[in-house]
Amino acid sequence: TDQRVPESKRSDELGDLTELLNDMIDTTQRYIDQQQQFVEDVSHELRTPVAIIQGHMEMLDRWGKDDPEVLNESIQASLQETKRMKSLVQEMLDLQRAEQIEITFTNDVTDVTEVVNQVYDNFKMIHPDFIFILDDDVHETVQAQIYRNHLEQILIILLDNAVKYSTTRKEVHLSYERDTRNVEIAVQDFGEGISQANRERVFNRFYRVDKARSRTKGGNGLGLSIAKRLIEGYHGNITIESAVGHGSVFRISLPILSAKAAKTLERKKQQ
Ligand code: ADP
Repeated sequence: TDQRVPESKRSDELGDLTELLNDMIDTTQRYIDQQQQFVEDVSHELRTPVAIIQGHMEMLDRWGKDDPEVLNESIQASLQETKRMKSLVQEMLDLQRAEQIEITFTNDVTDVTEVVNQVYDNFKMIHPDFIFILDDDVHETVQAQIYRNHLEQILIILLDNAVKYSTTRKEVHLSYERDTRNVEIAVQDFGEGISQANRERVFNRFYRVDKARSRTKGGNGLGLSIAKRLIEGYHGNITIESAVGHGSVFRISLPILSAKAAKTLERKKQQ
């Protein structure tokens, strides 16, 4: 139903008011539509794991429980789907929080150099089958106004993807550089790459280039939408450069704080 207020030609003031009201109604309607879409997407994403678990339980109930092999297989499959639902719920919460960052903009000052090095060390440890290369020309500390956990989360999402979508050449390069205003962190892989048409879409929530394959890798299609919302919440941005079959480079750029601004913020926080 159209809720809009009918246009009035009687006076300019009334016309202005009508326009203002209609703008507000449009904005509210857009918000409602987005929320509805979100609920639909979430239900859709949850339907598959629930259906799989239900299928296994029904099979066990009918005949499978007496066969140890079937029983074991069903338990494993159901556990895996339960894990998926748990990560889905966690990621949806993360996304929801990321969308509200601007309201709760932090006064936290984070040492970017330190976080990059820490995440790099962790990945090297977790994925011994991969070659990780850290190219850091920046030797001084680079500080940014960002909640430390959020910067970590963004880097982990990008590095996780670089690993997940590299099947042939298991190599990931991490680099960062700064200019007077921004620090730029790049995560490069030599994996499957992303076609031009998909480069925008991968930031949409629940979007996966290859649904079935991404699913087996445990992906919910929320990582990049979280990373994008987070970095934009801190007035930064994220871009992709990619060639199908050759790999991708994800670059994030984040405003840096001068030493003086960092000190002022630290002081403010302590008050
Ligand atoms: P997922 O949890 O599925 O990885 P993301 O939002 O992080 O969700 O990524 C969305 C999709 O973008 C992935 O399913 C994958 O198809 C594609 N993608 C992300 N990163 C890469 C990458 N480094 N190389 C190739 N494809 C990628």
